[in-house]
Amino acid sequence: MAFELPALPYATTALEPHIDAKTMEIHHDKHHQAYVTNLNAAIAGTDAEKLSIEEICKNISKYPMPVRNNGGGHFNHSMFWKLMKANGGGNPTGELAEAINKHFTNLEEFKKQFAAAAATRFGSGWAWLCVKADKTLAICSTPNQDNPLMDISDCKGTPILGLDVWEHAYYLHYQNRRPDYVGAFWNVINWDEVSKNYHNAIK
Ligand code: MN
Repeated sequence: MAFELPALPYATTALEPHIDAKTMEIHHDKHHQAYVTNLNAAIAGTDAEKLSIEEICKNISKYPMPVRNNGGGHFNHSMFWKLMKANGGGNPTGELAEAINKHFTNLEEFKKQFAAAAATRFGSGWAWLCVKADKTLAICSTPNQDNPLMDISDCKGTPILGLDVWEHAYYLHYQNRRPDYVGAFWNVINWDEVSKNYHNAIK
């Protein structure tokens, strides 16, 4: 069963003015589609065709680089679209809010540390909030299309929030102003989805 491009869960215009429609269209329809197409080509005829994208990521050291780059690209973007929504933003609630306050003192401090991870990732990559094996939270970043599920990652855990800091995610609207894009992300974040991911990760 070949991997498929998931539909965006909202219109390409839904995140404006924070993330513009043209960026969303190209990012989803062209970039994510390319990761899916290239992943399918890279695993064609191999046992990986029977695995989930999570299983592939967790054993990524067994695969050649095209599987790592495109498999990571597929997992990361599939998660990313759902982490945003129209009229997003606000504050996390419930157990996620408690965990953030416990680990980072308060939401503002969490946002500051997450933004720093996004800003200081040199070149292309992702910033993450993860649940580690001991169920505590951690912020980190990964290069390229790597992610914290990957057995090769310096930063291991279950990602519950990820932010794409590749230039293709923001350059049309923000040009070189990555920190402005990161700041705008808080206006479209879907905290309910982060909470759902958190609960699945601490089970
Ligand atoms: Mn991307």
